[in-house]
Amino acid sequence: MPAFAYLDHNATSPVRPAVLDAMLEALGAGGNPSSVHRAGRAARGRVDAARRQVAALAGALPSEVIFTSGGTEANNIAVACTHRERILVSAVEHESVLKAVPRAEIIPVDRNGVVDLAALERMLAGSEPALVSVMFANNETGVLQPIAEIVRLARVAGALVHCDAVQAAGKVPLDLHRLGVDYLSLSAHKLGGPTGVGALAVRADAPFASDRKGGSQESNRRAGTENVAGIVGFGAAAEASRDGLDVASLRDRIEIGLRAIAPTATVYGAGVPRLPNTTCISMPGVKAETQVMALDLAGVCVSAGAACSSGKVTRSSVLTAMGVDPAEAATAIRISSGWNTVSEDIDCLIAAWKGLYIRVTHSDLSQAHAA
Ligand code: PLP
Repeated sequence: MPAFAYLDHNATSPVRPAVLDAMLEALGAGGNPSSVHRAGRAARGRVDAARRQVAALAGALPSEVIFTSGGTEANNIAVACTHRERILVSAVEHESVLKAVPRAEIIPVDRNGVVDLAALERMLAGSEPALVSVMFANNETGVLQPIAEIVRLARVAGALVHCDAVQAAGKVPLDLHRLGVDYLSLSAHKLGGPTGVGALAVRADAPFASDRKGGSQESNRRAGTENVAGIVGFGAAAEASRDGLDVASLRDRIEIGLRAIAPTATVYGAGVPRLPNTTCISMPGVKAETQVMALDLAGVCVSAGAACSSGKVTRSSVLTAMGVDPAEAATAIRISSGWNTVSEDIDCLIAAWKGLYIRVTHSDLSQAHAA
């Protein structure tokens, strides 16, 4: 067990031991899956086995799975592969969707971060067929979207549907066919697999045009020699997470524990279905960066609720879209557990959060007395 409490699985989940073993074996074996000799055939066999494992996780056929370099590439491909003029995306999508289609029409969300279905229906009405891209679960709040209902509305209007399921995979059940979506994005490192590998599941009857030039890998849908060890690791992670994540009781303990310390703390999306592992919560009056640093010093890893890249915290577009006041949004952190989270991690988090809250509120009080 690590010497710290890692509660940032939505950023990346530690590699599972079974994944590491499978990857080391594949790396040691080598081989290019396109080669016809025995080493190539063995590598091909490994990729095919992983494809079956990932397909089972996504409720897709193995032939519908295209391996990519991660969730970002899967999302980039999905929004480009239909060549549809109109693309509708929700206001809370990941930046790998939002930035890939700057011209996209934005579907608003309500105060819980759930897509406004009436607005979507209006946007879909009477226009040329669109592509709708809505995520299964939000990376900051864990809020789940009504995908089946979105698909129903899209079908009536002749629209195609892409669903970014990067944060949902391995946490809640997924089924490409039962959901009826056309494209589904996945990423290995969110479920205990390696970084740098993901997949786009494309329904057999959905249009798909690849802009990528090169070899005929992935049945001509994604050129480039396969990342065999990464794909094998993805397969092992998919297999290990088929039953989903059973951590809702830990999430609830976090929320009850933190709100007992600071009763005015807000849990975002608390009133609607969410992932079992994600809590986005504010500590009134205390900046997210301060919380992240103080918790880190106390041996607890979480992240700022806002998008955080290269150590720079920017305003959360998700909380902004939900209508959260910017000053309040700046006090939100994201706590996300995963396959190796234990009860002691939650104890550490609650104790460290309490320590910080007491320090801050007491220093406020002493300043008030001194004034
Ligand atoms: N989509 C969502 C919802 C995510 O949370 C992330 C990563 O944080 C991505 C896509 C991108 O995945 P990757 O890091 O594999 O490129």
